[in-house]
Amino acid sequence: MRNFGCKTNFSDLFSILGRIRKSNEIKITDMKESDIVILNSCSVTKDAEKELNKWIRKAKREGKKVIVTGCLPNLKKIADADLSIGSGNYNKISPEILQKVINEKTENKTEIRLNGLILDNSIVEDDVDFYDYESFPRSRAYLKIQEGCDKFCTFCSIPLTRGLPRFVSEEKVISKIKEFIERNFKEIVLVGTHLALYGKNGKNTGELNLGRLVKKIAKEFQGEKIKLRFSSLSPKEIDEQMLEGLELGKNIFCPHFHISVQSGSNRILKLMRRWHTFEDFINDSEKLLKLFPDACIGTDIIIGFPGETDKDFEETLRNIQSSEVGHIHVFPFSPRPKTPASFMRKVPEKEINERVKTMLKIANEKREKFFRRFVGKTLETLVEDVNGKIEGTTPNYINVLIENPSHNNKTKIEKGQILFCNIKDVKKNESKIYATAEIAQTE
Ligand code: SF4
Repeated sequence: MRNFGCKTNFSDLFSILGRIRKSNEIKITDMKESDIVILNSCSVTKDAEKELNKWIRKAKREGKKVIVTGCLPNLKKIADADLSIGSGNYNKISPEILQKVINEKTENKTEIRLNGLILDNSIVEDDVDFYDYESFPRSRAYLKIQEGCDKFCTFCSIPLTRGLPRFVSEEKVISKIKEFIERNFKEIVLVGTHLALYGKNGKNTGELNLGRLVKKIAKEFQGEKIKLRFSSLSPKEIDEQMLEGLELGKNIFCPHFHISVQSGSNRILKLMRRWHTFEDFINDSEKLLKLFPDACIGTDIIIGFPGETDKDFEETLRNIQSSEVGHIHVFPFSPRPKTPASFMRKVPEKEINERVKTMLKIANEKREKFFRRFVGKTLETLVEDVNGKIEGTTPNYINVLIENPSHNNKTKIEKGQILFCNIKDVKKNESKIYATAEIAQTE
């Protein structure tokens, strides 16, 4: 199995595996030994599609059957997949269909697509009921609480691939968090296509919304040794109730808020049909930093959206440089099928690449500057990798490398363990920026 794309897709992978494991038709092994591979696709960028096709070709060369899940099957035909099931349809994974894949000649392809923009909560509730807990990474669990979106930003195909908004009931969210705590997970990422649309499903769901859920979680899990992280938020969607819930749950919510602003130019935000301005993003960041002074504010920026002029780009650069952002995902504009922006006049690729390079430089400077604020401090760190070196992540999204773990620590360190680390320095290699540290104390 291989996952592409976002954390919601990643969370779905464990639900797909759970359904397959429950079908008792297929033994789950690692990719090398398997004769069927599951590729959980992403439709957000052209690159994600290219990457998927590379993995399909590789699997086919190795004589394996290919099951493609995720968003892309809902957007287009996946030529070489033996079975393609679009997200929102995993309740159709059955022993019969799996048997069909196993026994059928490769020329007979089975395709299951999202038909119609489903509004039914039950399927998303189902997805979380099938989690294959033993497949989750030891360090962190991913709990899907919301699905779908109805914003239809002009560049985005997600409403077409994930359907309209729906959500997992508050009771089920609380019971799933309890289950993850009982299974000794130290961190749970609350994921969704558009978290702030929690409580929305086209029906009258009254007072139900993300702020109310956050408050309920804060009350329910006060004092628990668990950390909860939000996958991503959007500007102009953090209301008073949410802030009250975050304040109440200061000890359990990670001070890391990824708020997707997409551009620093209000003219471009209008062309993207976004419902907020850049200033709304700054207001939200300031409200959160007042509550969590050490928080990491993350964001996404699309570079080269059709019509983006030098002036728009410079405005984005200036605004991002003057903001308190500590982490930036930089995306070159990628025209997606069936979206309005795919018909708009494009910025030349050469121009986009130049601008991406410039923005990536700023992104690295902001990341390094944010990490350097914590040199000399002791930070809680969740261990994620123990192969040779020990790597982990802090609640405020700092990547930590423990240089000589055995220096003042004789106990065996394991994935999913919490350490308290003295941040020594900030270094970078070709792929990332990280803080070096020594273990001050184990959990
Ligand atoms: S808010 Fe816009 S960018 Fe985000 S999922 Fe919805 S349509 Fe896509």
